[in-house]
Amino acid sequence: MYFQKKEGLVFYKWNIFKKFDELIAVFSTRLGGFSKQPYDSLNLGFSTEDVSENVIKNRNRFFNTLNISEDRTARIIQVHGDNVIVAEKSGNLGIGDGLITDICDIFLCGTYADCASIMVFEPNKRVVGLFHAGWRSISVEIVEKGIKKICGVYNIRPENLLIGISPHIKQCCYVVRKDVAGLFNQEFLVKNSKERWNLSIENMIVKQLNDVGVKDKNIERSDGCTSCNDEMFFSYRRDKGCTGRMVAVIGMKK
Ligand SMILES: [Zn+2]
Repeated sequence: MYFQKKEGLVFYKWNIFKKFDELIAVFSTRLGGFSKQPYDSLNLGFSTEDVSENVIKNRNRFFNTLNISEDRTARIIQVHGDNVIVAEKSGNLGIGDGLITDICDIFLCGTYADCASIMVFEPNKRVVGLFHAGWRSISVEIVEKGIKKICGVYNIRPENLLIGISPHIKQCCYVVRKDVAGLFNQEFLVKNSKERWNLSIENMIVKQLNDVGVKDKNIERSDGCTSCNDEMFFSYRRDKGCTGRMVAVIGMKK
């Protein structure tokens, strides 16, 4: 990963995507916006109690700095499920946790505050995907289903996919109780007290990717824990729900 500074904003980006000039693949940080505490400052989510004028100003600034029009983004209402939608146009495309497209100038977009964003790019056939992965969507196999769908719809092979995983709440900070821990294999859990476990979302994501044929060398893990790094990221858990949202964007320029 690397951070790219641009016009007062700081973007989180992946080395695995760096050589593709036509690709925009960015995860926002909280720096460079207009919102006041506790949404300071680049809150890009409308689903918060933040002043909506500030969110609009933040979003304008974010998309202008990326040099894309917000009209060209494809968005969904994320519900921690397994529905993956084919984006054939921009705008609000319904309820789901995954978006895929092969159309240039449609930018897949999602909001985050602890869950992981899985950024997918197939450079030969020029296809992109974006999956929203928290424990609920992982438990219903969003990653496996998403990869199978993108490969099936566009007739591409999983070994040709490049994957970037966004900052998210990592195992250091992600404590779950028995009800959640019980859903997952022991290999993803570290017990930290009698009824508490630390869960690795990232290891589960990588396992699901491997299981459907994505190669380790084509997966760039994240370096960031949203909960640890309060300077750069919002964290729903850390801030007890009262926080802003980052945005993930992936798409191909014309
Ligand atoms: Zn942490």
